[in-house]
Amino acid sequence: MHTTLDAPPKQTSVVHLKNFIGGKAIQSSSPDLLDVTNPATGEVIARVPLGAAQDVDAAVKAARSALAAWSAVPIKERAQVFFRYKSLMEKNMKELAELVSLENGKVMNEAMAEVEKSIEVTEFACSMPQLSSGEILEVSKGVECRIDRYPVGVVACITPFNFPNMVPNWTIPNALVLGNAMVLKPSEQVPLSSMRIAELLKEAGLPDGIFNVVHGAQAIVEALCDHPGIDALTFVGSTKVAKIVYQRAASHLKRAVCLGGAKNHLIVLPDAHEEMAASNIAASMSGCAGQRCMAASAMVGVGPVDHIVERLCVEAKKIIPGKNLGPVISKQAKERIERFITEAERDGAKILVDGRNATVAGKENGYWVGPTVIDFVRPEMKIAQEEVFGPVLSIMRTRTVDEALKIENANPYGNAASVFTQSGGVARYVAEHASAGMIGVNIGVPVPREPFSFGGWNESKFGACDITGKSSIEFFTKPKKTTVKWNPEAKVNWMS
Ligand code: NAD
Repeated sequence: MHTTLDAPPKQTSVVHLKNFIGGKAIQSSSPDLLDVTNPATGEVIARVPLGAAQDVDAAVKAARSALAAWSAVPIKERAQVFFRYKSLMEKNMKELAELVSLENGKVMNEAMAEVEKSIEVTEFACSMPQLSSGEILEVSKGVECRIDRYPVGVVACITPFNFPNMVPNWTIPNALVLGNAMVLKPSEQVPLSSMRIAELLKEAGLPDGIFNVVHGAQAIVEALCDHPGIDALTFVGSTKVAKIVYQRAASHLKRAVCLGGAKNHLIVLPDAHEEMAASNIAASMSGCAGQRCMAASAMVGVGPVDHIVERLCVEAKKIIPGKNLGPVISKQAKERIERFITEAERDGAKILVDGRNATVAGKENGYWVGPTVIDFVRPEMKIAQEEVFGPVLSIMRTRTVDEALKIENANPYGNAASVFTQSGGVARYVAEHASAGMIGVNIGVPVPREPFSFGGWNESKFGACDITGKSSIEFFTKPKKTTVKWNPEAKVNWMS
């Protein structure tokens, strides 16, 4: 494994991470270190510094001093760096995926899919010269208005544990091709991938100082929100923290988009294609160990759907921890998820497939939770209301589509919702009335692919733009409007 890490100290094989500032690995100012574990084994694989405000200061200084030269480079040339970055990701794909798998626990095909998505976003960023070209119009005789897009400046990017490679890459290529500089604060639970990303960006020819990584937790996030040298901030994580970060960044008059948690509902009709619905729902609830903000968390069966539930259980039982299912991120996460299941059982729900107490031979200290399907959950139960973030599906039952939509609409989140049916009319009705930013029809994980943008509604996103796609062009740039008249013979009017 090749990373910008300190050589491991002799007495231990555990690597100590540094920050990445101005193109170099720089020791954190803080002596405090946190253990990073491999969730599949519980082994400590690295120690990450819990940095302080002065680390943010150093990174912002590096970003600001590199910004003017980078934003003056024509966008077509900036895009060339990202064509090379894309090739480097392709060349190093297996190694990048292994790093994701090591620190997050994902099984290899999921980790490879994550890196593929980073490549897709980078491909999109390479088309920014075409997508972000300005506009020009003759607004009255001899007078033209034009819009040019300018970078917003230095962008802070704060990311969660569940996609160590993809979520940083949601913003890196788009923001940087558009001429910005960046300070990334990766999740302290999965800090390794970000260091490899930094190396590849440097190898692709990105000037030093344009991309920086500062390690740490709450103190670093607060310093990024407060720092006058940060112009805009993207955050992806839980709703609780997204709200705090959005409010704090906005109180310092920064542009911010903060993506939060989710509770995605799948509304399933009896006429749904049995095999397609069951396999999609099982994959959605258990993929990445249910630790996706797009994961199916609740299924609402409308009318007689027992045949689909039975088939779903058959599919769920094919998902084997350690084989095609990775661990959850930590011991605390495993305990929290199992508590949700136990409380639902105590409150009268029926456990159809039970993933508690899962173990994997040879990896007994890993944080394993098996696929879990719980039937006859009621909307007022805790498991129906809160984000579980594990491979657990709660099934609720209703008589009508409107009752199902009422349950979906009542949950405070709004990331995704899906409907499974053969009826176009019903699908259209659910798509129209579900209160979520991303809708699936017969699709369990309705992630919009580029050029479509990613972002939820309600308590799943705070801020105006989406984080990817064309919408991110608005977020990462400032439009300058110029009105021009060269010809003296052009008619004088109120605006001349
Ligand atoms: P988290 O909110 O605990 O952490 C996210 C980031 O915030 C981390 O970098 C962390 O260091 C920092 N942080 C944590 N507590 C903080 C505090 N009090 N003040 C300031 N910063 C703080 O989230 P997580 O557990 O890493 O990730 C899982 C969550 O992320 C889930 O809720 C999931 O739904 C959500 N998520 C959402 C999306 C989306 O697109 N909406 C995508 C991925 C993950």
